[in-house]
Amino acid sequence: MTHLALLIALAPMALAQYDFSWAPKYDVTKPPATAPAQPLWTQHFKQVNPTASYADVTTCNSPNPLVWGATFDDGPSPSTPMVLDYLRLPNVSVKASFWVIGANVQFLPDVLARTFAEGHEIGLHTWSHSNLTSLTDDQVISELVYSARTVYEITKVYPKYYRPPYGAIDARVRALANSMGLTAVTWNKDSRDWSYVGKSTLSEMISNVTSSFRGWMATQDPNGLSLEHDLYPDTAAAIPPSMDILIRAGRVIQPVAQCIGDATPYDNPVLKTFFANGFFDNPSLIASGGAGVRTTGPAGETGSNGAASGSSGTGSGTSVSGSSDGSKAKSLSTGAIVGIAVGCGAAALVALTAVLGIRYQKKKKADAAKQAQTLGGESAFVTAL
Ligand SMILES: [Zn+2]
Repeated sequence: MTHLALLIALAPMALAQYDFSWAPKYDVTKPPATAPAQPLWTQHFKQVNPTASYADVTTCNSPNPLVWGATFDDGPSPSTPMVLDYLRLPNVSVKASFWVIGANVQFLPDVLARTFAEGHEIGLHTWSHSNLTSLTDDQVISELVYSARTVYEITKVYPKYYRPPYGAIDARVRALANSMGLTAVTWNKDSRDWSYVGKSTLSEMISNVTSSFRGWMATQDPNGLSLEHDLYPDTAAAIPPSMDILIRAGRVIQPVAQCIGDATPYDNPVLKTFFANGFFDNPSLIASGGAGVRTTGPAGETGSNGAASGSSGTGSGTSVSGSSDGSKAKSLSTGAIVGIAVGCGAAALVALTAVLGIRYQKKKKADAAKQAQTLGGESAFVTAL
């Protein structure tokens, strides 16, 4: 069988285990539209959980000052597997947080499945990467509902945490998300990797990003929460060397939920009950059954909100091996990649990468035009996804 024939044969198989028939349809060569609004969903969340109030997470507030939250945004992308390969190397072996875009997940579901299976934290990053502060209440709710539905399709869990695109958040958006049992997570260490895309060579990208990390290590600031992107090949390539710097400096890299002492990052009973009651597929049930339905779901959860308990953690200071050398990236690009390639899902990944590649080209062209929209220290280019 030729390579091409193998791709054609395997692509449907790779996707068959997931059902995205509920997902908004759009032209994959253009940015996805904002998720379709559903006023009944908004009515439901406002009625069942009107007073929820959770402060944004902006730092890894661990008792151990060396604990560091590493976050990677806007995937899954074709570059994500490389990052995963690095993170599981024996002399690295750390977990991080990935904030995924719903519209991207449906193209690379196996990549998200692998990310979750390897113990990394999955957080919501909306459906279309829209600026939530510019959307209506119904659109904000739908952006989060559709991204939650997407993540559930792959992982069978409902996250408690979301990251607003561009870090753009206000009291209204915060309250809407809180009503869904969701707590915002931003960052306090922006690598600004996005700002070098299309403007710098790969070596310049890595140099600029690692310079930021070295600077942070020099300040000895406790409990950093850093932002990088696994979206582009260049920004993803800067992740291993920047994590190396943290490890050499003795920082203990953890997912965000762990570093703030939350052992249950997917215990979101509000979302669980919402979906268990069929409100996603049949919003009319909200009108007829009452938005106040708090019936228990299949797992016996209640409608009470247990999100963001904020319970203090032990800050387990599991030390990470400080041994680190420049061979990591090299070993990654050979053996690990070959390991992926033999998997039957990899062939489909290659095919899907071609589809995403079209979108990336368009995204790069739109990058310059969208610079003016940059907010809160995160890139605007992903809006062109
Ligand atoms: Zn983003």
